[in-house]
Amino acid sequence: MPDRPPRAPRSESREIVELRQLKTSQPELASAVDMQIALVDMQRRVQARVPLPWIQVDPEWLRQQQAAGRPLVRFRDIPLEWTDFRLTFRQTADILHRFDALERADYQKVVSLGRDGNLLEPIVTSWYESTAGVEHADAARADADRHRAAAGAPASLDQVLILAIRPFLARCADALNQRIDLATWSHGHCPFCGWEPDFAVITPGAERRLICGRCLAQWRFAPLTCPFCANDDRALVTSFATRDGRYRVYACDVCRRYLKAYDARNAPRPVLVAVDSIATLPLDAAAMQRGYVG
Ligand SMILES: [Zn+2]
Ligand SMILES: [Zn+2]
Repeated sequence: MPDRPPRAPRSESREIVELRQLKTSQPELASAVDMQIALVDMQRRVQARVPLPWIQVDPEWLRQQQAAGRPLVRFRDIPLEWTDFRLTFRQTADILHRFDALERADYQKVVSLGRDGNLLEPIVTSWYESTAGVEHADAARADADRHRAAAGAPASLDQVLILAIRPFLARCADALNQRIDLATWSHGHCPFCGWEPDFAVITPGAERRLICGRCLAQWRFAPLTCPFCANDDRALVTSFATRDGRYRVYACDVCRRYLKAYDARNAPRPVLVAVDSIATLPLDAAAMQRGYVG
């Protein structure tokens, strides 16, 4: 057999390149980095095959939703093909379990749920509708509780759902972002899917943009207001930065929740949530030590 030249490495996204660098510079984060690489890689492959949806929105409905603080993506707008979703759901559960982020008993329940479309589909639909709050959220909440109880779904199911729906939901934010003006959206929850922010970025222009923990959409928000309880008393917001000034934590002394941010002023690159959320795991520990919750 002639020697084959080594295969050229597959082109890697910037996130994955940066995650590998992070693993070298902070070896104590190795396991979290490896899990993130597996998730990012899987989500990227799924997202590449999900079509950009054409979401029909009546301008008057849009105006009313925004005025009422209700988000814009209805479940039926999500280009979610169930066979593909079930595969993504299963792969997400596999990765979380492999890295000990999902206990064995929960993993087994989640996997068996994923095999049964009759159980999974109503759970996913009612979970999205009850947490997005686009329309009739109260009825959806009762449905969600009923379906989950009937299926014996563990609480950790949420973590799997958030990650599994992301590549599908992110396409909706992509589609709407180009057509919608979010200048008047001043809420702490995501204008597209209604979820909470999980990270933030301080832009070079010193604005703060929140980043959705479910669909990764970004929206502008007051720099020192708590997005979780709307507390805007500066004396009751504790903010501290890492020594290198790259990251910051905003902690609310009213609701005790905190949010991490990447400070893009004078930074060498834009925010990369997949990387920055892992690089800041030591900040989570620091915030929790001070009695705040994520
Ligand atoms: Zn969102
Ligand atoms: Zn608060």
